[in-house]
Amino acid sequence: MHHEMSFADRMSTVEFDVGDRPHITVDTEVCRSCTTRACVPACPAKLFVPTDDGGILFNYEQCFECGTCYQLCNSAGAITWTYPDGGHGVVFRKG
Ligand code: SF4
Ligand code: SF4
Repeated sequence: MHHEMSFADRMSTVEFDVGDRPHITVDTEVCRSCTTRACVPACPAKLFVPTDDGGILFNYEQCFECGTCYQLCNSAGAITWTYPDGGHGVVFRKG
């Protein structure tokens, strides 16, 4: 027999596909001395948020995994990139 779920029941079964292990981590101590803050305007998901005290807040859960921040921040060394579980991460190209 076909059973129609209510919206609430249906939502309670939705699993948002957010890995437990962040594929990207940001050492916000490094961000404190960053002069470019290049990640802030560059992130299409607007995940880097400057705080009033000169820090950066970062939340990986909405990340598109585009890799833009990592490319821009490479020299600063604040961002560590780990391929997501399942191996569907960004593939960086050279050149
Ligand atoms: S993530 Fe990188 S570019 Fe962004 S504020 Fe931190 S050090 Fe600077
Ligand atoms: S990988 Fe892309 S979406 Fe994710 S935090 Fe970096 S710039 Fe933003």
